This record gives sequence, structure tokens and C-alpha cells, in this order.
Amino acid sequence: MFKKILVANRGEIALRIQRACRELGIKAVMVYSEADRDAKYVKLADEAVCIGPAPSSLSYLNMPAIISAAEVTDAEAIHPGYGFLSENADFAERVEKSGFTFIGPTPENIRTMGDKVSAKQAMIKAGVPCVPGSDGELPDDPVQIRRIAKSIGYPVIIKAAGGGGGRGMRVVHTEAALVNAVQMTKAEAGAAFGNPAVYMEKFLQNPRHVEIQILADNFKNAVYLGERDCSMQRRHQKVIEEAPAPGIPRRLVEKIGERCAAACKKLGYRGAGTFEFLYENGEFYFIEMNTRVQVEHPVTELITGVDIVRNQIMVAAGEKLPFTQRQINAQLQGHAIECRINAEDPYNFMPSPGRISMWHAPGGPGVRVDSHVYNNYFVPPNYDSMIGKIIVHGDTREQALARMRTALLETVVEGIKTNIPLHQDLMVDAKFMEGGTNIHYLEEWLTLRGTGKR
Ligand code: ADP
Repeated sequence: MFKKILVANRGEIALRIQRACRELGIKAVMVYSEADRDAKYVKLADEAVCIGPAPSSLSYLNMPAIISAAEVTDAEAIHPGYGFLSENADFAERVEKSGFTFIGPTPENIRTMGDKVSAKQAMIKAGVPCVPGSDGELPDDPVQIRRIAKSIGYPVIIKAAGGGGGRGMRVVHTEAALVNAVQMTKAEAGAAFGNPAVYMEKFLQNPRHVEIQILADNFKNAVYLGERDCSMQRRHQKVIEEAPAPGIPRRLVEKIGERCAAACKKLGYRGAGTFEFLYENGEFYFIEMNTRVQVEHPVTELITGVDIVRNQIMVAAGEKLPFTQRQINAQLQGHAIECRINAEDPYNFMPSPGRISMWHAPGGPGVRVDSHVYNNYFVPPNYDSMIGKIIVHGDTREQALARMRTALLETVVEGIKTNIPLHQDLMVDAKFMEGGTNIHYLEEWLTLRGTGKR
């Protein structure tokens, strides 16, 4: 096992990884920017290294600074968390070339999955169902483009191969608008992602976002840890996640989960990963794979009893997965819900950084809080507005909902604005309580609230 790991991230996930290290008897080196100097998890660290000023381009994205921090502290491995450099194949490669273990998949796997055209092709080869669409990158010839769209059927969506974060996509409803839309998306993709390649997919009208968590080791063992429903989104950003996905038959989840695990074996994938799908009319359609731990991993941990971060570290150190698929399936228990707590106005979503004058976290049976904040913590304006997550577990979805309502009521955050009032409203919304809302539901709900109809 490793003796020392460097955590190349900040905030709640940095603390989450530090906790996993402590449990395993591994020393954790935290890197921090000048804006995070006073954070408690930095002070609590076995060692801490400042890697630059507040802007992430100069600190958490600064590859040479992070690698030298690992060198001076004699760390053996680097955990990238999520966001920042976690899905950067060049970083993974530099980490390994410098003699450290990258806690994640191989640079080749990250690269394949980072390009959506090659990811989709790999999935088709591995037998994972994808959204019907063009066979790879779109050609330049307008006649061919029209022919492809016709065979898929309108509406279609044009997507950038190098896109991410919900950007680089355009929906097209008619043939008249098609060629121009392709050209515009190409130009934007070239400017934004340095890669003008685009592809075409059938545009699904009312899907849900359902994803499969997997874990794989270096010995071709791969398991899926059930699914998560992350349909409650605003601007393609997840707001609430839950597991399992309400109303989806187990056998459908098992069928798709087995395909994902088989694909991992075929790809020689190692570590944690997520296959994201759109789910509509009883069918799963692959959209992309995330090659890292995700913000919403705790809901899966609560229903499976599997510590995902611990297992990421163990398999990176060359250990075998300590469980089989059968064991995982047998230990699935109850229902879990996560609310992302953001430092933002709950009505207009303006970021609300600043000093937290009062912080009180909820507790009680089935309540977990993953957060790095505390009384008098200063939320820096430089990063993502998420300041923590409240996650609850219950025997049933109803019990989980009730526990979340209580947990939100107990939570106190003063000095800044948070989206807790939004979560409180959603936890008593009839449609959400019913379960199975689609990816447009939250936006529609917000529009109605804006017009005073809700
Ligand atoms: P990104 O990497 O930018 O997040 P994704 O491919 O994961 O891009 O797509 C982001 C979101 O865009 C999806 O969650 C979904 O809301 C929407 N979307 C993408 N592809 C389709 C499609 N074929 N039909 C309908 N909606 C889609």
C-alpha cells in the first residue's frame, strides 16, 4: 500500500480523499492555492504545499507545480479528485512519467473517453447501446449531412467531439436549418475546444439522466455499483441526485450494468468510472463516460456499503477488488438522496461567496454531510460555488425524503446565501416526490416559479 498520497484538489473532495487516506493509514499531502491557505483540511493535513495564487489556472491546473509538490514531499501517488486535472490525459501521463501513480485509469483510456466520437465508437464496439446517430465525425459535404439527418430522423442534435460542461451542442428541428447549424457548431467547437469535429445524434425529447457507477482493478475484474438518477439539473448541472433511479425495473439496470462492466474489462479500464446514459421509454442510450470519482458518489456508497474513494486508492496500489458482483447485488439496501449545497442566491442563482458567520450541520440516523466548511470559513469567489453536500439514506425513498427535509431544516448557514430554500421547496414538490422526473423538469419548475405560478 502507498505510504503517502498527494491530493491534487480542493474543498469537500480534497477532505473526502484525506479521510480515506487516514482510514488506510496513508499520509495525505494537500496542495492549496493562496485562497485556500486557511482552510481547516489544509491545516489538518500531514503536509501541505502552496502551489500558487488563487486563479485555478495558476494553482489547481498548474501541472509543474503539482508534480514538484509530489517530488518535494516524496508522495508515491496523486489523487486528482473531480474537475480540475482529473480528466486530463496529458496530466495523467506526466504524473506517470515522473514516477508517480495516477489514481485513475490509464492516459489512453482517459484520452479515448475524452473525445466523444471515439468514446461512442468504443462503446458501440463493446456492445453498450448509444443514441442513434452519425457513424463518427460528420463529413463536410452538405448532401451527405442531410442524408445522415434524414436517416436518423428530426429533431437531431449536433455535438462537439471535444465538448464538455454542457457546451458545444445545437438542436436542429428542420432540414432548412441543418447545414448552417453544423457549420456554426463546428466553428464554435474549434474556437472553444481546439477541435472542430462534430457528430450528430437523435435528439431525445424527454429523457432522464441515469448513470452507472463502475469500479475495476488491474486484473480485469469490473463491477457495477448500481445506478444513480441525476435528472434534476439546471443548465446541465446536477442539483439533486439519488440512488436507485425511481421506477426503473431491476432487470433493466442489471442488463445495462453488466454491459458497462464488460466494456471496462474489454478496455482494460481501472479505477472508478461512470457511464452516463439518457433513459427514455425503457431504453438506455450512452452519452458519455466520466473517468474519475463524481460529486454524487456518496449516494452509491450509501446504498451499496462500498467506499468508492478507498477502492480507487486500493486498486491504484495494485490490489484486487475485494468483492464480486453477486456480493454487491446482495448488499444493495434502501434509498439515498443528495442535495448539493451551493453558495448562491436560491432565486437568481448569482454566486454568493464570502464569510460564513454561522455553520451548523445536520445529523441523526442516515444523515451524512460531506463539506469542508465551518464557522467563520471564507468561501473564495474563485472556484465552483458548491460548499458541500447533504446526503441521506433511508429504507425507502419516502424515508429518505423525510430525512432530507429534517436535515435541511436543521442546517444553518449564515453570512452567505445558499440554495437550501430551493432544496426545501423541491423536497415537498408533488412531482419530485412521485419520482422519475425528466431532465427538463427542474428548469420548467423554475420558470413556473419565476412567473409566480408556483
Ligand atoms: P457534456 O459533456 O457537455 O455534459 P453530454 O453529452 O453529457 O455533454 O450532454 C449533456 C446534456 O445535454 C445531457 O445531460 C442532456 O441533457 C443533453 N443531451 C445530450 N445529448 C442529447 C441527446 N441526444 N438528446 C437529448 N438531450 C441530449
